[in-house]
Amino acid sequence: MIDLRSDTVTKPTDEMWEAMRNAPLGDDVLSGDPSVQSLERYAAELLGKESAIFASSGTQTNLLAIMSHCGRGDEYIVGQMAHCYRWEGGGAAVLGSVQPQPIANQPDGTLDLNEVEAAIKPDDIHYAMSRLLCLENTFSGQVLPLAYQAEARELVDRHGLQLHLDGARMFNAVKKLGCTAEEMAEPFDSISICLSKGLGIPVGSVLVGSEELTTKARRIRKQLGGGMRQAGVLAAAGEYALRNNVDRLADDHANARRLAEGLAGLEGFEVDLTKVETNMLFPTLAHGTANDLASYASQHDISILGGPGTSVRLVTHLDVSAADVETVIEVFAAYPRS
Ligand SMILES: *Cc1c(COP(=O)(O)O)cnc(C)c1O
Repeated sequence: MIDLRSDTVTKPTDEMWEAMRNAPLGDDVLSGDPSVQSLERYAAELLGKESAIFASSGTQTNLLAIMSHCGRGDEYIVGQMAHCYRWEGGGAAVLGSVQPQPIANQPDGTLDLNEVEAAIKPDDIHYAMSRLLCLENTFSGQVLPLAYQAEARELVDRHGLQLHLDGARMFNAVKKLGCTAEEMAEPFDSISICLSKGLGIPVGSVLVGSEELTTKARRIRKQLGGGMRQAGVLAAAGEYALRNNVDRLADDHANARRLAEGLAGLEGFEVDLTKVETNMLFPTLAHGTANDLASYASQHDISILGGPGTSVRLVTHLDVSAADVETVIEVFAAYPRS
């Protein structure tokens, strides 16, 4: 089965299983787990920050960040289509009593910084207190430029806000730009990274930032029921992935590009190649819906996300080879048009 639904579907490689099997373990809630501590140190060092905290998901690390930066009645400014506004069950509002202030995302995933500035509330009893700006990189596979992130930093500094990066796929952006993880992280007070996407571990994310931030986040993680005991079995996979699976993201990007170019050459598929920057592509169908294509694909052992519309999301990852991409192009070339 060739699974293009998401980069979250990967299974551990033999080497990753080996790292997990050999991980020294402890009770991370009671007195610490050496493999979790090692991952946290390594992630912090890689991003040039003081500290990191391992958690179960990117939803949780985003929530830990928002609740650590903001208190009850504060607000965070965020993209209308940002994961940490739209796709996380309203957790910041439900569990943190933190109000979101959404701003329209530009087509490239950025927020217009003039609109952000206009949304920052004055210190006045009528308003929630604006505390935090959240950016997302990559956004639908598109890379936000370093210069833009630096401008966002200047803006938040002028207004005394904090800056968070939902870097679920930050390493795809790092690979694409050819910068270091430290350069990418530099403007941000906190960064959430999913180890369970392109990096290929079964479960887990890290939040990276100052010691003060992760100390707060550690208490909140416990409150949320996110304290995990012998979590080193997962953290060891995470450290393995950070050490071994970053460079190979370039293969996923090359595969996504080849798939996009192959599909763009087929009648009935339209692909905006300028938007295919990392491991995601969004072809539009001239015939039928995403559901139709998904049921056709499944008959050929290809799994894609369906939907009632004509836009399809395809994601490349560790378990999709260059040969798989050629297979998908061949199968889709034979998709019946009517
Ligand atoms: C996947 C994702 C998350 C969080 O994902 P979990 O499934 O909770 O690990 C956060 N932000 C973005 C942009 C994502 O793609």
